Amino acid sequence: MDLDLTPELLDFRDEIRTWLSEHLVGEFAEHRGVGFSWDDAAWDVRLAWDKELAAGNWLCIGWPKRYGGREATVDEQLIFQLEYARADAPYRASVQGQDLLGPTLLAFGSEDQKQRFLPKITAVEELWGQGFSEPGAGSDLASLRAKAVRDGDEWVIDGQKIWTSAGVYADWFYVMCRTNLDAPRHKGISMLLVPADQPGIEVRPIRNILGGSEFCEVFFSGARTSASMLVGEVDQGWRVAMGALGTERGTTLLAEHLRIQHEVDAMIDAARSTAQSGSAVMRANLVRAWSEARIIEWNGRRLMSALKGRDGDPAAQASVSKVFASTAHQRMAELGVRARGAGGEVVGDGYRLDRLQQVMLATRAESIYGGTTQIQLNLLAERTLGLPREKRPS
Ligand SMILES: Cc1cc2nc3c(=O)[nH]c(=O)nc-3n(C[C@H](O)[C@H](O)[C@H](O)COP(=O)(O)OP(=O)(O)OC[C@H]3O[C@@H](n4cnc5c(N)ncnc54)[C@H](O)[C@@H]3O)c2cc1C
Repeated sequence: MDLDLTPELLDFRDEIRTWLSEHLVGEFAEHRGVGFSWDDAAWDVRLAWDKELAAGNWLCIGWPKRYGGREATVDEQLIFQLEYARADAPYRASVQGQDLLGPTLLAFGSEDQKQRFLPKITAVEELWGQGFSEPGAGSDLASLRAKAVRDGDEWVIDGQKIWTSAGVYADWFYVMCRTNLDAPRHKGISMLLVPADQPGIEVRPIRNILGGSEFCEVFFSGARTSASMLVGEVDQGWRVAMGALGTERGTTLLAEHLRIQHEVDAMIDAARSTAQSGSAVMRANLVRAWSEARIIEWNGRRLMSALKGRDGDPAAQASVSKVFASTAHQRMAELGVRARGAGGEVVGDGYRLDRLQQVMLATRAESIYGGTTQIQLNLLAERTLGLPREKRPS
């Protein structure tokens, strides 16, 4: 990574290493590498681990101290992510608030909203769900139809959201709603913070490919939230949503290569133990997987440099990193199952998928969430290469 390790940064790295070695023990150590961003495997342990991190003040470390952060620099945040991934700690359960809503509120929220919500995120006392996608509005988010109407001091919300990660656990949803039916598509949308526990909200779990059910549909039927829960200006929510999605596509990928490296190591071990490593094709593919893990790392370095303003456009690099990582990771994950030999094909009721099988199934979603591969390619074509704009609905 693009890091000049000063003595202060080395001390910081040692502090994290020591903390992780003292706290990633017992049940937490048994769940190393467990869970994906959208997977509820071992949810209770992962949530307990998040609370352990919160007690050590290791969540949202870049945030201001008054909201529960540490005001860590970009280099310190990166070191934390690298050490975390190196230790193969469980995936954090409450990423929606920490990685997506929190940065959005820091950029666009009112001071009251920041004081009300951010400390509860850093303390893992309130969990969030993202209510953007709808059955007819995913890539084309601006065609969303859920609407919010002002009624005195409240907004009243009607509509349906879908693919809401960790929605079954959410205490609050941040929801994109149409607030002006007469305005052009992108101009009549607002972001509202809506409490989950109320009669106007019904959450229906969807069973996902890994067998988990944290993913869900959320139905809003006369759901209510206070007028003070509007983020940014009324009808100007598109800018707010793009800020949230930019975060999703950018910094959260920075230390991914280390997780992927752990998987490649597991594949190589599996190929050795099943004698697959004797096959010329398998050997060539393992070398390719190992090389692609390096490229993902280098893309991470480039993104880091771009974020620090040293080199290139961060938005373009984030799209390049995401397209390459999701495509290569899917290919690697398929190889991981083949490296297990015939055992890799075992599935069925009562059978617990092993880590390589889980990775293979989980990676199918990587080219969809956070902006599909096709949408990222469109963005690169139009904004980076200056190619003609694709025709869009009026
Ligand atoms: C694991 C996971 C977690 C998610 N979590 C959340 C969440 O918490 N909250 C939330 O709101 N949403 C969430 N989503 C939804 C996600 O944002 C959408 O699935 C995504 O935006 C794509 O929308 P869609 O599924 O409606 O597909 P569509 O937009 O219908 O796309 C279908 C296919 O058409 C392609 N396509 C669409 N438009 C174009 C175009 N203009 N040019 C070329 N190809 C195009 C797409 O690339 C895709 O291959 C999640 C999705 C997944 C898989």
